[in-house]
Amino acid sequence: MNDPQNRLESMLTKLREHEFRVTPQRIAVIKILALSDGHPSVEQIFDQVKRDFPTTSLATVYKTVTLLKELNEVMELGFPEGSNRYDGNRPYSHPHLICTKCRKIIDPDLESLEEMTQELTSETGFQITSHRLDFFGICPDCQEK
Ligand SMILES: [Zn+2]
Ligand SMILES: [Zn+2]
Repeated sequence: MNDPQNRLESMLTKLREHEFRVTPQRIAVIKILALSDGHPSVEQIFDQVKRDFPTTSLATVYKTVTLLKELNEVMELGFPEGSNRYDGNRPYSHPHLICTKCRKIIDPDLESLEEMTQELTSETGFQITSHRLDFFGICPDCQEK
């Protein structure tokens, strides 16, 4: 996990550079994105922000997340059958491990990834710039149930 404080600063700097307003609600959204390694959905972020800022609307959260996504400060994990999930701690392509029962999403440390990338490059001549790699399964907690 990246240092949440650095990620927070980096996202705030990016917003200011692009002359977007940095409101307390926006800071609250950004904090959750920077700190969370659980890949929250917009609804989950909204539920948390509401505790400190009861007047926040879902649209505000949605707009902030979309804005950060456009600035490449947040990575979106799209799912056809449900809410998209967001990673503001690692806003670049990395593998994900997804529990199909509880929808938990974690970032595995996959040492073979670099090897796989090199293998692809040497086999195809492609210059690999990013990837989408999702593994689906049942997490240990759900296996016990
Ligand atoms: Zn699970
Ligand atoms: Zn992630």
